[in-house]
Amino acid sequence: MVYQASSTRYAEMKYNRSGKSGLKLPAISLGLWHNFGGLDVQENGKAMLLRSFDLGITHFDLANNYGPPPGSAEELFGKVLKSDLGAYRDELIISTKAGYHMWEGPYGEWGSKKNLISSLDQSLKRMGLEYVDIFYSHRPDPNTPFEETMGALDQIVRQGKALYVGLSNYTAEQTKEAATILKGLGTPLLIHQPSYSMLNRWIENGLQDVLDEFGTGSIAFCPLAQGLLTNKYVSGVPSDSRAGGKSQFLNSKDITEEKLTQITQLNELASSRGQSLAQMALAWVLRGERVTSALIGASRVSQIEENVAALKNLAFDPEELAKIEEILK
Ligand code: NDP
Repeated sequence: MVYQASSTRYAEMKYNRSGKSGLKLPAISLGLWHNFGGLDVQENGKAMLLRSFDLGITHFDLANNYGPPPGSAEELFGKVLKSDLGAYRDELIISTKAGYHMWEGPYGEWGSKKNLISSLDQSLKRMGLEYVDIFYSHRPDPNTPFEETMGALDQIVRQGKALYVGLSNYTAEQTKEAATILKGLGTPLLIHQPSYSMLNRWIENGLQDVLDEFGTGSIAFCPLAQGLLTNKYVSGVPSDSRAGGKSQFLNSKDITEEKLTQITQLNELASSRGQSLAQMALAWVLRGERVTSALIGASRVSQIEENVAALKNLAFDPEELAKIEEILK
């Protein structure tokens, strides 16, 4: 059957402007880091993508290496574009990145012009696209001058292979230097993609000020701390969870007693707001409108539905914020 997007897809989602640009992003975006690779159930990945779009999630975040195997998340996304979502291309913001290890030899990672341009060409082929909306330098390269990395991003936009550019995992100082170069080239820095959650607040320490200075937006990755900021680990590690499975990025050792105590207290506070912990954690990342979008991951459709429903209660009163600070202390 031909996919028909829901006619109410724009009814509930909130769209935030990325910094001072013309581009609006959904308050909740979906990333394809886990659960969309060649080793995952493809039908589940497709169902999550289509349900997301039906809920107003217009932004899908990829990278060259998402899988496993590396590249396979882009391939799956390309298949779903071809079969279903492609008819809605002008309603979609698709991003990808280069910087982490992707292929053998000296050009398969980091920030040279050679890596960025070749990698994006590969990504476009895998997804069957002529252009992506946002292309990122995935991590700063200590051995390549920022002039070269930013020059490659600028060239990519001028070639029409990306509409906007972003940086990920750059520190406040690195972002300032890079954004200054980009500005000089006439390709402003649209967005920064840092990690950010109640358990990881480094961006409050300088990066957010730099982004304000340059009129750059931000999209927070791992806003649920890979699932820790949900109620799923409160009474043990389920075998079908990220920490209980094969992911090398989260394991049961990360779920310390101290974190469990915090999570249990946060869970109670969320209940008193009529929310799940996941919903409160997303609302918290979006508080004060400093973050453009919370970039979630999901392993099943129901999580996406629950997470988007966070938008029904984004407001915090000062007592709730103070209580969260106290719990996180
Ligand atoms: P999250 O912190 O949102 O964690 C997502 C995981 O949490 C899900 O896969 C699921 O895990 C669990 N989860 C989500 N919703 C719920 C819920 N409602 N109830 C219970 N459990 C839930 O983000 P990710 O770590 O997945 O990262 C999100 C995206 O950020 C990535 O896909 C990628 O696009 C981007 N990213 C970017 C990086 C970069 O360097 N730029 C690095 C890392 C991520 P489970 O399998 O246990 O169900």
